[in-house]
Amino acid sequence: MCFENQSIVVTGGNSGIGRAAAKSFRADGAKVAILGRDQATLAQSVAELEVFGRSCDVTDRSALEVFMADAAHHNGQFDVLFANAGIAAFTPFEGHDPANFKQVMDVNFHGTVNTIAAALPHLNDGASIILTTSVANQMGEPNSVAYAASKAAVKSLVSTLSTELAPRGIRVNAISPGPTATPIFNKLGLTGEAIEQTRAFVSAATPANRMGEVSDQVDAVLYLASKRSSFVVGQEIVVDGGLTSCA
Ligand code: NDP
Repeated sequence: MCFENQSIVVTGGNSGIGRAAAKSFRADGAKVAILGRDQATLAQSVAELEVFGRSCDVTDRSALEVFMADAAHHNGQFDVLFANAGIAAFTPFEGHDPANFKQVMDVNFHGTVNTIAAALPHLNDGASIILTTSVANQMGEPNSVAYAASKAAVKSLVSTLSTELAPRGIRVNAISPGPTATPIFNKLGLTGEAIEQTRAFVSAATPANRMGEVSDQVDAVLYLASKRSSFVVGQEIVVDGGLTSCA
């Protein structure tokens, strides 16, 4: 898969799956633009990966429009958009804080909508848009009402936008990661021992007998970004080691 001189945007490119994807695109010759919120990890990623990057919150449509215009000016009109930024939240439904539910929907769903809308004027015809959903949609796990709903809403974008953007040859697909070792677990407040317990629990429940690694997700992203998937439109690739196949 060759991305030589292609212009690629990765949201959430300063951490986890997004950062690993940005690194792979760079290694394959692409001009990459990343955004995230955390200044420190963003500056570090910009320096290490040699990409265009800026702090930007996906809930802020105006800021996104400025970011996309600047990224296109810097790297050229986009060939690939990996709209990947997201947050996790796991709280019981009973007694839940409505503000917390709203924030999850604002970042994961409206943030994805904002990202696509802001990027659209700068996307080349024939571009590939890749979204990030989650197996939480399928699992029916307790404490995941807001997160699962927000990712189900993102999934709905895959098929609807595929149809709307077909006249421009723009493909829309998604990866649906199973539990994958990234900083998202630390952000949930989990620390060493709890993360190891999660890893052991997930491994035992997964036919592949391990938790996902970022490279598992990146391989699927690279495929959907490349011309090798040119006839793959409106699909969600589940990358979970078989976890949901036996759920
Ligand atoms: P990380 O926490 O490592 O990455 C999430 C990224 O999203 C960070 O770069 C973060 O930036 C960015 N982000 C979050 N909120 C905003 C915002 N409001 N504006 C801009 N950027 C934002 O986790 P992952 O790499 O694991 O997550 C990537 C995607 O994968 C997410 O959509 C997540 O829901 C999804 N996913 C992850 C799974 C897993 O087990 N890891 C499983 C299923 C889905 P910053 O750090 O600056 O806040």
